[in-house]
Amino acid sequence: MKFISFFSLTAAVIFSGCTTQKSITKGSVIFDNKVIAHRGAFKKAGLPENSIASLKAAIALGCGGSEFDIHMTSDTVLVINHDDAFMGLNIENSTYEQLLEKTMKNGEKIPTFENYLKEGMKQNKTKLIAEIKPSRISKERSLSLANKVVEMVHFLKGQSMVVYIAFDYDVCKRVRELDPNAPVQYLKGDLPPEKLKADKIDADYNADAFNKNANWIAEAKKIGVVTNVWIVNNGKAMDEFLAEGIDFITTNEPELLLKKLKTNSRN
Ligand code: MG
Repeated sequence: MKFISFFSLTAAVIFSGCTTQKSITKGSVIFDNKVIAHRGAFKKAGLPENSIASLKAAIALGCGGSEFDIHMTSDTVLVINHDDAFMGLNIENSTYEQLLEKTMKNGEKIPTFENYLKEGMKQNKTKLIAEIKPSRISKERSLSLANKVVEMVHFLKGQSMVVYIAFDYDVCKRVRELDPNAPVQYLKGDLPPEKLKADKIDADYNADAFNKNANWIAEAKKIGVVTNVWIVNNGKAMDEFLAEGIDFITTNEPELLLKKLKTNSRN
């Protein structure tokens, strides 16, 4: 419980006005701002998505968080990539060594989750938004990936840095079981805030889900469920979600959103 007290204290110091930027607390994680770079800050810099370079770029920008996707190889190595396949190789059916035969356009090999976390934990400003991808082979494999992700975060003592996100609700619930303090966000957009609240899970929904259910952001706020919207790249839509009081926006245009927040804080 020492851990929680430390973060409550830190939050109190931040809220007491030591910084001009409003901080957002979620479980054991404290955010500097609402900007989540989707697959790292890859777009403007022309970097491969989900590369260590795109994570470093998100950190250099000062994003509140940087999102990435985790899969498990056939020999149970956790690696970072968006799709099921990495440069033509199906990840679940390939060994880590087989994946190392491929090289990304910036010279990087596929990052392991361990190395990605270690890189992100060299600093503490930009938090790490870890998406646990569903297995195409079995539910057991999805849950096994969830177990291994949480195990690695705890092994590296990264609890204050990591938010877990997943489309599979069973994966979200498994993470919640394994770590009662961890921020866990559900991605599919088909459950109302009160259902999530009952399971101590937050809402990381696409813009359509929030647009179709116009009261969800307000409802979530009322009952203390954190809201994150993806993928919002358009300035007008960013403004609308900010006006509704969204907690976080995941975007391929983190530079634009950071600029907006800076302007807003001056007004
Ligand atoms: Mg993702």
